[in-house]
Amino acid sequence: MIYPIAIVALSALGMKTASRMKASMPGVTIYGLEARIEGADISYANFGETVRQLYRNGHAVIALCAAGITIRSLAPVLGDKGAEPPVLAVADDGSAVVPLLGGTTGVNVLARQIAAILEVSPAITTSGELRFGTCLLNPPPGFELKNPEDAKVFIADLLGGKTVKIEGDAPWLEDANLPLDDNAELRILVTSSDVAPQKGDLVFQRKLTDSKSGISPKSIQPDHKPGRLAVVGLGPGNPDFMIPAVKRELNNADDVLGYETYVRMAGPFRSDQTLHMTDNREEMQRARHAFELAATGRSVVMVSSGDPGVFAMAAAVVEALHESADASWHLVKLEILPGVSAALAAASRSGAPLGHDFCVLSLSDNLKPWEIIEKRISLAAEADLAMAFYNPISKHRPWQLPRAIDILRKYRGGDTPIVLGRDIGRPAEMLRVLTLAELTPDQVDMRTVMIVGSSLTRSFERRDGGKWVYTPRWYGTKPEG
Ligand code: SAH
Repeated sequence: MIYPIAIVALSALGMKTASRMKASMPGVTIYGLEARIEGADISYANFGETVRQLYRNGHAVIALCAAGITIRSLAPVLGDKGAEPPVLAVADDGSAVVPLLGGTTGVNVLARQIAAILEVSPAITTSGELRFGTCLLNPPPGFELKNPEDAKVFIADLLGGKTVKIEGDAPWLEDANLPLDDNAELRILVTSSDVAPQKGDLVFQRKLTDSKSGISPKSIQPDHKPGRLAVVGLGPGNPDFMIPAVKRELNNADDVLGYETYVRMAGPFRSDQTLHMTDNREEMQRARHAFELAATGRSVVMVSSGDPGVFAMAAAVVEALHESADASWHLVKLEILPGVSAALAAASRSGAPLGHDFCVLSLSDNLKPWEIIEKRISLAAEADLAMAFYNPISKHRPWQLPRAIDILRKYRGGDTPIVLGRDIGRPAEMLRVLTLAELTPDQVDMRTVMIVGSSLTRSFERRDGGKWVYTPRWYGTKPEG
């Protein structure tokens, strides 16, 4: 996990120190005790409950009060040592920085960062770190320690006088003061493959993709730029259909999130970019993950096919922000960049079937009741709108499209042009123009967008054997000229 950072202040003096820190750590959120503090990002009434909740929700906690108060408050929830977020006590006048918890998740990195801002020495107590000048267990983002359970013995052995060799590229250890020896019994191995640690190994795996396991770099990003989150549309597939602003955003991304197919479509990526590919349907969860990453100062890009605002991730992202009281999320620079939506891409291939008023409907009843879909189809048909159907049919939704076709036939003639665009802009692209009378559900699948003409939509043969389709700009009688 990347931990969003919360500074919890109890007094007006603490608030001053918190503001000094925040000036150099723009992504952090200041929590201030309601009765005593003005100007905090978020006010709270109960210190113990607040720090416990932040800790449970995976926030790095910087408590501006005595170490003892923080320890006693967190005692009931101290659990899994490997996964705990960093917790620090900072004296409210800023004179002492004491890392308390989170040795494997970057507490000392954070302590050094805060101490530098406050111009004091951090009270680092981890003997391995003091001796070797770095925390072995805290690689930078992009690397993961595979066997944290072996770390304690490994470091104890080093402290006890054993030597170590480094295999692979470990840039964060370059300045470390390690007892190196080519014949050493202990080994630090940095690898891109999934290697099982041997006895005496500390294995760091380079994370090219972060994918289905949901693992992220564990360390704090000591980043001073405000984070960015761009929700981008890739267009239907062909990079020629992608707007240049999206290409720039992809090029500048630290993290790229989205369905695996779309992340692959957006590539290739560099090895310093982290890919978070999912095939799950939990869109709100993915949206929140994007904010968590961006709130630490990273540049995050969430990809959708077509346009991100058309049955895709943009709405979930904006909804997640609306629901969040986390000020660090609201500081993220959020931008939605449009793309060519499937209906527009398919329409352009066939002429201009959406040349007059039209509407766009998803036939998926996963998130809305089927009755409302039927009602909308009926009313749109009655209003003589051209229509584009997304998500027209799937294995789990076999009967809905036949039902939709029945409704259309009540309102439209059998000669109404239908455009079926499948995999538009992709290597397997297929375009068919047929009539409502000829249409059968087996001609349609999930990778197809289906366009239904209005009563005025017409088609005619084109020289290459296909058909042009268009809906005239006028309605009623054709204007002169
Ligand atoms: N945001 C996307 C739509 C996602 S919903 C967009 O704006 O295009 C997924 C549905 O979009 C699919 O079921 C299919 O109906 C349609 N679709 C997406 N890409 C397509 C493509 N390249 N060709 C045809 N239909 C596509």
